[in-house]
Amino acid sequence: MKINLANIKKAKNLLNKSECVAIPTETVYGIAGNAYSDSACKKIFKLKKRPTNNPLIIHYYNLKKLKGDCDLNGDFLKLYKRFCPGPITFILNQKKTSKISKIATNKKSTLAVRFPKHPVVRSLLKYLRFPIAAPSANISSRVSAVTSSDVKDDFGKKIKYILEGGRSSVGVESTIIDLRKKPKILRLGGLEVKVIQKILKKKISIKINPSNISAPGQLRIHYSPGIPIRLNAKEIKKDEALLLIKKSKINKPNYYFLSKKGNLKEATKNLYTILRKIKKDNYKSIAVGKIPNKGFGKTINDRLMRASKF
Ligand code: AMP
Ligand code: MG
Repeated sequence: MKINLANIKKAKNLLNKSECVAIPTETVYGIAGNAYSDSACKKIFKLKKRPTNNPLIIHYYNLKKLKGDCDLNGDFLKLYKRFCPGPITFILNQKKTSKISKIATNKKSTLAVRFPKHPVVRSLLKYLRFPIAAPSANISSRVSAVTSSDVKDDFGKKIKYILEGGRSSVGVESTIIDLRKKPKILRLGGLEVKVIQKILKKKISIKINPSNISAPGQLRIHYSPGIPIRLNAKEIKKDEALLLIKKSKINKPNYYFLSKKGNLKEATKNLYTILRKIKKDNYKSIAVGKIPNKGFGKTINDRLMRASKF
């Protein structure tokens, strides 16, 4: 993708003034603010109507820029080398000298850190003197945005500027891994657990539904298109759309497909766009057919399960 430097400069100028801008990333679009600025971080929570106890992921250009804020460890360095920039977020301990706003972390001593791969946001991060706090660009509890027009639909004029970056290539949020002690997955996402396992060569536990909620990607109601969703549906009700993993022979207007032939990566990329489309097409609820619970299918099922608690 060609980088438009005038656009990067516009975003940079707003961020320098502690304003928020929407940014493209390879996972989903984000609402970004200066992570060192309390007022910028407050604006992010307000815009998203996000509970203040749900901390923000901090986005860095590279390791060099992170070193002042966090303690790094061996597992982190292995994963950084292999997967960054990319769709993985690390939970690390903050240094006493960290400059990250306490608003962004809800005063936690830990920090969620990511290095996004999208060339547009990388170009922006490179020019900034601070990292950016950026949660997904959607109203809290709703489905995330994967294009600039999704962001416009959710925020309208409330957001000062949307940095254009085309459609997000991954289409779901990053995988979150806590690396402070034994590796622990806190959110399934755009990087499969099995490829992380291959690099770490040690057991990784999956704690995506604990009673003590540490990552609200773990909240029960989340990722909702704003209408009810029924999983593993056997029949379709009146005014209901049917969502299937692959194209079926039957072609009715209320049938929607996540992929042509059942490819789970393609299905993940399409998930949020199709959920938004069904809502726009005015269906009153969504019946979902069975989705294989392996690889990225686990991420899709996780999101649909939480969205079904609507
Ligand atoms: P979003 O920005 O909407 O993708 O959500 C960010 C996710 O990262 C949320 O589920 C947060 O709870 C989680 N998160 C942010 N900071 C931390 C932290 N220090 N420890 C655990 N989870 C975190
Ligand atoms: Mg989110």
